Amino acid sequence: MLSKPASTLTGDLQALSYVRPEPDSAWGTYLAQVDSVIPYLGSLSRWADTLKRPKRALIVDIPIEMDDGTVRHFEGYRVQHNLSRGPGKGGVRYHPGVTLEEVMALSAWMTVKNAAVNLPYGGAKGGVRVDPHQLSVRELEKVTRRYTSEIGLLIGPQRDIPAPDVNTNGQIMAWMMDTYSANVGATATGVVTGKPVHLGGSLGRVKATGRGVFIAGREALRRQKLALEGVRVAVQGFGNVGSVAAELFAQAGARVVAVQDDTGTVYRDAGLDVPALQAHRAEHGSVQGFAGAEPLDDERFWDVPCDILIPAALEGQITADRATRLQAWMVLEGANGPTVPAADAVLAERGILVVPDVICNAGGVTVSYFEWVQDFSSYFWTEAEINDRLDKIMVDALGAIWDKADALQISLRTAAFAVACERILLARQDRGLYP
Ligand code: GLU
Repeated sequence: MLSKPASTLTGDLQALSYVRPEPDSAWGTYLAQVDSVIPYLGSLSRWADTLKRPKRALIVDIPIEMDDGTVRHFEGYRVQHNLSRGPGKGGVRYHPGVTLEEVMALSAWMTVKNAAVNLPYGGAKGGVRVDPHQLSVRELEKVTRRYTSEIGLLIGPQRDIPAPDVNTNGQIMAWMMDTYSANVGATATGVVTGKPVHLGGSLGRVKATGRGVFIAGREALRRQKLALEGVRVAVQGFGNVGSVAAELFAQAGARVVAVQDDTGTVYRDAGLDVPALQAHRAEHGSVQGFAGAEPLDDERFWDVPCDILIPAALEGQITADRATRLQAWMVLEGANGPTVPAADAVLAERGILVVPDVICNAGGVTVSYFEWVQDFSSYFWTEAEINDRLDKIMVDALGAIWDKADALQISLRTAAFAVACERILLARQDRGLYP
């Protein structure tokens, strides 16, 4: 008799032949989250394996002639995890650590996120394994245009709509839109979101993810009858998400006591001057050396006395060890997948409330949806209209998830997955299988 190979992985973690995730890897984390929700899906659980397999994954080669005349190859991906509820939607990440497995997890979290806030989208994600800080602007443009052309097989305004993510921005979206438009022979602003406002972008999009994190935190405090004034906040990541969330919390009267970016950590017990820190980072590319704070050893960030922790950088940051040490009583997940399953268990045990990524950072894709709708009608809304609608969608979605968590006595993460996966699998069931 053949014996099964020994494995610490459970159930269908082994189901795909092209990925062997570790339990704490991004895809392993996502699969564990799916497993936790299956008991709450009733008869729809029959379809749950759909959630454990990306619908399709494309790997592309991106050859570029560098400024010095040499030719370099980069590897890019676009994964469409699920299209049951509509076209694919999700960002594109440029990072030296990007892998297919990571992009699979990020695309799956987009499926869940889009369903959690009830946007008419499936989930997708893209990435290029590259350190954009090592490229000239011209090289960055070449990588972007070739990548866009290669994933042109999959993307389109009705098929799959990319957007910014880690290390990508409005300029990169403008190049993507232009390349796709050139290839199809017509300007197609709706093929990407997060574009500059003068090219069919939406007001409010740049700050939308950070704003959504703030709204989620504000609502979570309100539901616990706690004041925002004077609350101590620590933020990991000072890019598009973390810096805006820090700014809005500080504006509302919170004290942002610690900030960590990819270069270092700064701390000020009385609260950092967030606009001054943003200006410092814009000038020096780093929070390090900021005069209005003391430097802190990076690992000490996780021990900082605070009420709210906002991980707004990369996945896998809150490990079981760090979860044991955290001083905060609430975690707002600005990043995708920042908490590994073992850490989630520790946080639950310690009674620390986690507002999960799939609702907490959904503000960005929500305003991306507004942008896409505006592009189709070529009629653009005011920033106040956009922020009001974002606020309402976030408050309603978090409210429904909160009520479900209360009713079933489950975590907000499992409740968010329950709300979302019911929607996804109902669509799957009612569309049926072909053939
Ligand atoms: N990259 C963002 C996210 O992870 C936004 C995606 C989008 O706007 O499509 O949610």
